[in-house]
Amino acid sequence: MPSPLPRWLSRAEPTPLDGRNVAAASLVVVNGLHMEGWLDRLVKASGTKATIAVASQGIKPQTMVEEEGGAKGITTDPHAWQNLANGRVYVGNIALALAKADPANAAAYQRRADAYGKELESLDLWVRQEIGRVPAAKRKIITSHDAFGYFGNAYGVTFLAPVGLSTESEPTAAGLAKLSGQIRTLGIKALFIEIMTDPRLMQTLARESGAVIGDTVYSDSLSRSGGPADTYVRMFRHNVPAFVAAMLKNSFY
Ligand SMILES: [Zn+2]
Repeated sequence: MPSPLPRWLSRAEPTPLDGRNVAAASLVVVNGLHMEGWLDRLVKASGTKATIAVASQGIKPQTMVEEEGGAKGITTDPHAWQNLANGRVYVGNIALALAKADPANAAAYQRRADAYGKELESLDLWVRQEIGRVPAAKRKIITSHDAFGYFGNAYGVTFLAPVGLSTESEPTAAGLAKLSGQIRTLGIKALFIEIMTDPRLMQTLARESGAVIGDTVYSDSLSRSGGPADTYVRMFRHNVPAFVAAMLKNSFY
């Protein structure tokens, strides 16, 4: 998926302007869970006096398997916002940080946070209803980017990231054949892969595996403003129907 974020929020190097913005800020909100090492460095380098608020403070962290340079390791999974219960914790933390930074408006922040928390609560119910339309045996998705561990745990969907599908590199012909075999054996049609930029590779994989490559879903970043997932809420409203439609095509085993 093309990076819809401002350049400085992607993996590119922050610019001097970003450093000045951080230096002038009174509050910097980070996800935490070791997600933004580069932001920690930027904060240090900028000499900012800003309060650093960790949005994920208080959530129960999950782990994930990370592949780096061919080696696999267990790390903290930073994608906690993919569970809406955690999203509500984020909202509470951010509201508290805003109230501390701007005490005169503390009550207003609290009111808005309460209203938004209720919105997320009903969104959570909607997600459960939608996933509930898929028979339990079909609730499986293959993905290249292991960003939905919290989502899977919260909503009862198994996300599989088979060997040969890493976020770091496109698979080789041999890797693709092996992958196709695994997908066929699992009976999974729901395939969401972000990294494969070569449409011919995608077509080959779909043909060989019998899977259907799903619509773009959003995990770490939102779409551009006006796009299909330009807010946190709209991200769920976009991803969930895409997941449901794809999972309904899975075989029963
Ligand atoms: Zn990620």
